[in-house]
Amino acid sequence: MSSAKIQSTHQERMAYVYVRQSTPHQVIEHRESTERQYHLRERAIGLGWSPGRVEIIDEDQGRSGSTAVHRTGFQRLVSEVGMGKVGLVLMLEASRLARNNSDWYRLIEICGLSGTLIGDETAVYSPRDPNDRLLLGVKGTISEAELFTLRTRLYEGRWNKARKGLLQFPLPIGYVRGSDGSWELDPNTQVRERLHYVFELFRLHAVARIVVRDLRQQGLDLPTLEIGREGYGSLLWKAATLSAVVRILHNPAYAGAYVFGRWDYSGSRHSSKTGKVLPHLLSVAQWPVNLLNHHASYLEWGEFVKNQERLRQNWNHEGGRGVEREGNALLQGIAVCGLCGQKIGVQHHALTERRSSSYVCQRGYQYGDSGVCQSMTARPVDAAVAAALLEAASPMSLQVAIRVMDQIEQDLAEKQRQQQMQLEQARYEARLAQRQYDAVDPANRLVCAELERRWNEKLERAAELEKTYARAEQEAQWQLSPEERAAITHLSRDLPAIWNAETTTTQDRKRLLRMAIESVQLDGVSFPGQIELQIRWRSGVITSQIVNRPVQGEWSLKTSAEAVARIHSLAGKSSYTDIAEQLNREGFRTAFGRPFTHQTICYICRRDGVAPGRRRPGSSPTADSSKHKKVKL
Ligand SMILES: [Zn+2]
Repeated sequence: MSSAKIQSTHQERMAYVYVRQSTPHQVIEHRESTERQYHLRERAIGLGWSPGRVEIIDEDQGRSGSTAVHRTGFQRLVSEVGMGKVGLVLMLEASRLARNNSDWYRLIEICGLSGTLIGDETAVYSPRDPNDRLLLGVKGTISEAELFTLRTRLYEGRWNKARKGLLQFPLPIGYVRGSDGSWELDPNTQVRERLHYVFELFRLHAVARIVVRDLRQQGLDLPTLEIGREGYGSLLWKAATLSAVVRILHNPAYAGAYVFGRWDYSGSRHSSKTGKVLPHLLSVAQWPVNLLNHHASYLEWGEFVKNQERLRQNWNHEGGRGVEREGNALLQGIAVCGLCGQKIGVQHHALTERRSSSYVCQRGYQYGDSGVCQSMTARPVDAAVAAALLEAASPMSLQVAIRVMDQIEQDLAEKQRQQQMQLEQARYEARLAQRQYDAVDPANRLVCAELERRWNEKLERAAELEKTYARAEQEAQWQLSPEERAAITHLSRDLPAIWNAETTTTQDRKRLLRMAIESVQLDGVSFPGQIELQIRWRSGVITSQIVNRPVQGEWSLKTSAEAVARIHSLAGKSSYTDIAEQLNREGFRTAFGRPFTHQTICYICRRDGVAPGRRRPGSSPTADSSKHKKVKL
């Protein structure tokens, strides 16, 4: 089809065929469309261009079309058109050239100026013709609108489907899709039973980490779906990890609910790595699509909701209640394991347990108790560190500290003065060398070269010293201003009062602690019954001290009442060792799940005043306590 708009002046210039697809995926999938684009070359020849004057620009293959900035092919096209070298620009659908209106209008504008025609499979437009120009403009607008509606339609379509529970996404392990697309329980009995067991364990312990520990101790793996390209979706058994267990406990699908939109992508926090918006998890009440009883479940909905609450309490991330709890875990975030060097995490217990928080080496968090390196009750450790802080910040020690600081300041100032003098000297020498160089007759080349070399040397040395001097100045930056000194002295007098005030929250205390302490290394293994603390102060000093672990039962677990009653009934009749053996035979275990020993029996008997045999007549160990049943004398 020849057009009256095409003139020989156009045909003398080049015809450019612009080929583009958006993504590498499209390039592979839409071969047909690509072929159609290449056929445009024949069309250009049919319109009267000699084959040598037809050029295909396809550099943009595989680049996304939202903006032309990164598309060199498009830029090349625009610049060629601008130079008046192009008679015709051909593309599949005129507006596909640029998916962005500003690109498109820029091209129409430039084509209009240089008298270049724009054509597609069916028509040729002249941007100088007002009608064609309007048409091209409308095409561009429609194209952009189409892109927008396409996106919206896709998005809305997803939500519409999701609201009806029909949107398909990969099912979690434990479910398979039925022939009609519905969710069915996995026919694999082992998979189903293992999932049931996970929920059962959490029912029992209410702490995800303990579920992991139990699974690992019993050598029970968790089913999971392969996500690698190879064998995608096939069943795999993997050792239980905390993240896998938490994922299962957090997934509402197991409670029979069809949920969509759990994550909100509209936040303002961006990932520092990718720049993308960081999604955040919405609470159950905020889920936009939540269809209960959508499919067969592994646990009741009510239990699922309760589990979420428990998980939230145990997990001290994201400002949950754990962080706010009073008097607990001051060293959160600054404690380091003295055995393996890993960070030490805080484990909070349910409020009903009335137990102090614990410091647990992070290895424990990752692999359950089977991999625990060490753990300890937080309270005595916190108390010792707090005491050390108050001691270190007492007026007396602060006086000393300030005096030391003054000394350091003086040293630094002296060093600085020396360096400054040195620098002055170097600068003087450089100036001198320059003057000598200037004074020499340029004709005397040998002397000139030597003097120039010396002058350069002096300049280099001056530059070197300048750098050193700048560094020294920076080092001296930390000296205290009079205001800061006053603030510190004031604080030191008031610190104990501030620290102990009821209005001071744990958060405040943590902040105070971090002002003075860089990290605390904990070692609860090297000395039995004791914990070694190494405090690394911000000043660079390291102090160490030892605190006693709390005696069993004081703040921690209690031996079961039945076991204690049995011990009481046997006390006085046989030796500690015999009692221990008797209880072990009867299947009793200590609070920590270990067999009884001579020591544990001895401890309980002494604590309860039921020591066998050796009781002195007249002493009345039972008088002070009515809690425990006592052996008749
Ligand atoms: Zn460790």
